[in-house]
Amino acid sequence: MTRREALATRAVHAGRDDLTDLGLHAPPLDLSTTYPSRDSLEEARRLDVLATGEMPPGPPVYGRAGNPTVARFETALAELEGCEAAVAFASGMAALTACLLAAVAAGRPHVVAVRPLYGTSDHLLSSGLLGTEVTWAEPGKVAPSLRADTGLVLVETPANPTLTEVDLRALADECGDVPLLADNTFATPVLQRPAEHGARMVLHSATKFLGGHGDVLGGVVACDESRARTLRQLRFVTGAVLHPLAGYLLLRGLATLPLRVRAASATAGELAARLAAHPRVTRVFHPTVRPRPAGQMETGGPVLAFETDGDPHALIAAVRLITPAVSLGSTDTLIQHPASISHRIMDPEDRTATGISDRLLRLSAGLEDVDDLWADLSRALDAAAR
Ligand SMILES: *Cc1c(COP(=O)(O)O)cnc(C)c1O
Repeated sequence: MTRREALATRAVHAGRDDLTDLGLHAPPLDLSTTYPSRDSLEEARRLDVLATGEMPPGPPVYGRAGNPTVARFETALAELEGCEAAVAFASGMAALTACLLAAVAAGRPHVVAVRPLYGTSDHLLSSGLLGTEVTWAEPGKVAPSLRADTGLVLVETPANPTLTEVDLRALADECGDVPLLADNTFATPVLQRPAEHGARMVLHSATKFLGGHGDVLGGVVACDESRARTLRQLRFVTGAVLHPLAGYLLLRGLATLPLRVRAASATAGELAARLAAHPRVTRVFHPTVRPRPAGQMETGGPVLAFETDGDPHALIAAVRLITPAVSLGSTDTLIQHPASISHRIMDPEDRTATGISDRLLRLSAGLEDVDDLWADLSRALDAAAR
């Protein structure tokens, strides 16, 4: 048996193991929309296989059925999450949509979900736009919420934007046969691998840390090969494909993911501690300031939130180094006001009940020097005091 390589090593080589034998260093970027062939009977056979969601080796016939560059990213992400397969989509929401449509298509449109979730995910479930019906349940109350037609249990940990951690093993035990889908966007496989704790599907907004530079929109679901086939079928008919250039950039992003996530996590932990001691800060939300599920997540992660007794909008207007923008997981530190932006689409009463107050600010640590960030943040806190 060969020695199992560390995650930092696989992050660099996964999806690229064949390159040396191909005589290549950078992975090839294949922008083809179609794949010519003089043998249309062979094409017909390949299409029959592709229609089942299986990926036969060789060209994918048409760009909506598959892409070799995107496939490299999928192989790599599946390996890092410790899953059999991964299926990439045009965005995180496209990935979640495919998971929900799979439940609906299987005749199990009931979804049990744990709040808080990313605002648009919450809205997608609350609105029932895809024909799902949601029951919101706290951890520990999921089992009694399950029904014969429950197709999915959905959780984010740490959750967007309150950084609440949920014990995945305990939740998976509550789910029984119903698949648990864990949104791992905030932790990334560097800090936490939900499949090791019983999640059957792991979702990412690849737009965030996997891409890591604020220039790619993408989503991905890691799961077993049987579920992956259903997701590929749905991707083929809905057309929610990831662009090959996005696949290329996401594969590139994975190589530096462990370095970036660990560095930004250390910065977020330090900022959380300094915020907790600042007179204008009334509450800090970060896994490091709470009791935590044992053995689940390596550190607190790069995202934190806090409440100020000053004006949160004035604080956003006052930062100069930190970028005042929604989203997270970039090289630069981002700050935004969830009630105005990331969670705006939620019903205001649900939002408040979920712990997202009008004073809450969410910060995603980047790769800048922590003292420079603190100088900007503490000055903005003072400027926003009233
Ligand atoms: C951003 C985000 C999403 C949605 O992803 P998009 O790529 O913006 O579609 C889903 N879940 C979480 C936790 C997110 O932060």
